Amino acid sequence: MVHEPSRSRPSTSAAGRAYLDVAYAEKDAAKALGARWDPKARRWYDPRPPSPGLERWTARPEVPELLPGEDRTFGAGLFVDLVPRSCWFTNVRSCVTEQDWERLRRPILRRAGHRCEACGDGEDRTAGRRLEVHERWHYDEPTGV
Ligand SMILES: [Zn+2]
Repeated sequence: MVHEPSRSRPSTSAAGRAYLDVAYAEKDAAKALGARWDPKARRWYDPRPPSPGLERWTARPEVPELLPGEDRTFGAGLFVDLVPRSCWFTNVRSCVTEQDWERLRRPILRRAGHRCEACGDGEDRTAGRRLEVHERWHYDEPTGV
């Protein structure tokens, strides 16, 4: 396996935009407090930082393009994976804050070119078609890991 060196992306753009980590479910609340959408970066930002109320979404450091321990050899396309009973009804998304989930999904969507890796369709928010980030795990039955 080849690992690319992780590139650290700044949380502000070259134009000095103060980016925010806003979960989709919180976008209206952030917008009401003055957040603006950068369509090119696909991120919310604070136009006049620090704006009162927007601090809670202040961007945390970017995660690496290849996540630690991530295995990209599972292949692409549709899949059905059996999940041990002990892992039912839990996933990474349910274990992290919405803000951290936004930090995780952003580079993954960017890496996929903002297209579905199974069928190639793009996101269309006006049509209510959003891209979801799924996780796949390898379970070692003998060791229970
Ligand atoms: Zn698809």
